Amino acid sequence: MQTVPGILEQRENKIMKLKEKVYKKNKIYKGRAVNFCNDEVVLPNGQTAGREYIDHPGAVAVVPFVNKTDIVFVRQYRYPVDKITYEIPAGKLDRNKKESLLACVKRELKEETGYTAKKIKKLISFFPSTAFSNEELHIYTAEDLTAGETHPDEDEFIEKIIIPFKQAFEMIKSGKIKDAKTVIALLYLKNTLPKL
Ligand SMILES: [Mg+2]
Repeated sequence: MQTVPGILEQRENKIMKLKEKVYKKNKIYKGRAVNFCNDEVVLPNGQTAGREYIDHPGAVAVVPFVNKTDIVFVRQYRYPVDKITYEIPAGKLDRNKKESLLACVKRELKEETGYTAKKIKKLISFFPSTAFSNEELHIYTAEDLTAGETHPDEDEFIEKIIIPFKQAFEMIKSGKIKDAKTVIALLYLKNTLPKL
């Protein structure tokens, strides 16, 4: 009979056989926040292929609770989808400053909503788009908030709006909230805190 470590080792070997090796890295465009790449890779069968993707520094998002049930959302125009969206506050990590995740959560929360939080807790991390980006997004909750001044980026026009969890959840069901990190965060909370 095979042992569990034996099976896991076999599985690991199989996974390694799926891995593609970088043959040539091609940065097509270096952006302010993200880079566009078209690398050449060697496939497991020895053939080569192109891999177009967005090189992303990673990001954080935060669900700020003003009390047990009401959440601070931000409303903003999103150019790629040409829509005004409801989202939880979020932002990219500062690649140049080697910013920690927690520092980024505090900064984005303050910049976008003006709030500072006494309690910040990690929920989950996920890859929003594995097919074409290496972005990893980390979701947190923030509680014990103190209101203050907002400091959005120069090109960021944001409205703060407080929505009860129940209503926000209905907005997901009706398609009014479609932003992926917001949907994931709220579904996760609904699952882990069923009383919400
Ligand atoms: Mg943002």
